[in-house]
Amino acid sequence: MKTKIEPFKIKSIEEIPITTLAEREKYLEQAFYNPFSLRSEHVTIDLLTDSGTTAMSSKQWAAMMDSDEAYSGSRSYYKFEDVVKEITGFKHVIPTHQGRAAERILFQCFDVTGKYVPNNTHFDTTRGNIEFNQGIAVDFPNEIGKIPEMRADFKGNMDIDALKAAIEKYGPENIPLGMITVTNNSGGGQPVSMQNIRETKEVLSKYGIPFYIDCCRFAENAYFIKQREKGYENKSILEIAQEMFSYADGATMSSKKDGLSNTGGFLVTNDDKIAEKAKTILIITEGFPTYGGLARRDLEALAVGFKEALKEEYLAYRIGQVEYLANKLLEAGVPMIEPAGGHGVYIDAKRFAPHIAPEFFPGQAICNEIYRLSGVRTVEIGSVMFGRKDENGKHIAPDMELVRLAIPRRVYTQNHLDYIAEAIIETYKNRESLKKMRITWEAEFLRHFTIRMEYIQ
Ligand SMILES: *Cc1c(COP(=O)(O)O)cnc(C)c1O
Repeated sequence: MKTKIEPFKIKSIEEIPITTLAEREKYLEQAFYNPFSLRSEHVTIDLLTDSGTTAMSSKQWAAMMDSDEAYSGSRSYYKFEDVVKEITGFKHVIPTHQGRAAERILFQCFDVTGKYVPNNTHFDTTRGNIEFNQGIAVDFPNEIGKIPEMRADFKGNMDIDALKAAIEKYGPENIPLGMITVTNNSGGGQPVSMQNIRETKEVLSKYGIPFYIDCCRFAENAYFIKQREKGYENKSILEIAQEMFSYADGATMSSKKDGLSNTGGFLVTNDDKIAEKAKTILIITEGFPTYGGLARRDLEALAVGFKEALKEEYLAYRIGQVEYLANKLLEAGVPMIEPAGGHGVYIDAKRFAPHIAPEFFPGQAICNEIYRLSGVRTVEIGSVMFGRKDENGKHIAPDMELVRLAIPRRVYTQNHLDYIAEAIIETYKNRESLKKMRITWEAEFLRHFTIRMEYIQ
């Protein structure tokens, strides 16, 4: 059979709100033109994030019913630990309520104050946690990763030469740890090759720098390796994931992604000293080490979810769905990062709205218009999220201005994807009417969550 189908059927449904244009215009105004501030009951299709928005399976729900809510030593924790150890191979498994909690604990353990932490591209919470601890987050994406229209297999890779040069420049004593993010979320959900992970490991270990993986989308990355990297076509997704982790000293995870669950995270490490320190911080701030701020039923859902995420038929459907949407948009000429990433389509706002310079937030203007037209919520990853100001108040733009259409796992049907495509193509056809925007209020850290904006008339 040529037709690919969703490898599941639907047992329980949730109604979605259908709104009018006039209502959506009012909602946008009330949200200060920041889709993050919209109430989700006003959002018809929510592509804000793939984080924690997964539909869980009947097996996950069943496991949750069977959880053991003991404070200490719960069997639900040991189930979780067994699965995480099987996949990652690390000695210490520390559950956290989300990925950012694992990050915060990691950067407190390593004491990043005044020091550099390299990554292919830090995610916003990772950068935020480093900077909050007075560290310096530095990104070394490879050159091709910065060119949206250039197709390549592994655009999420670390620039190994730039990493080496940085270590020489800053001195290894000023780099407490190095990281790599799979897939590279802020760089377009693009995969990182096994070879690149191996080379990153080689460079860091030559200088005695510990290596941690930000592994939120380890299963999606492993699937891309199987599809695209020579020598991996006959390996299982689990074997590929295990090899990825084998090069690292530890990892941080947001289980809200490839944990196929609605919350959770973990920190894993082989380092006894780091684990001891991490558990102390965990107990003070998150919870006891056999639950780490989660209900034990969440650990049950995760133990099942990690396994389901590694199933090849699931990943083929998942990555295939993103590709289906990307192809529809490409046929209509919508500029994007090519090829599509693992968890979403990233529209290139610079080419979409070239009449709006980065300091006037082209991505935000596109997000607002897509919502106004259709009730589809997307998110800007560009000057709103990562823009800075220099000493003179001049705008410093990030490399790319993107609009992310993050696809929740196992949630939307092909008909939903057709509706999304229509909304974006319509916005693209009328792109010349998109207006410049400015900020009216912003928070000190992670400003995009609460930022207030307006159109410049
Ligand atoms: C989501 C995400 C995080 C943070 O995880 P939370 O669970 O949202 O705290 C960190 N890194 C990457 C790459 C992510 O995608």
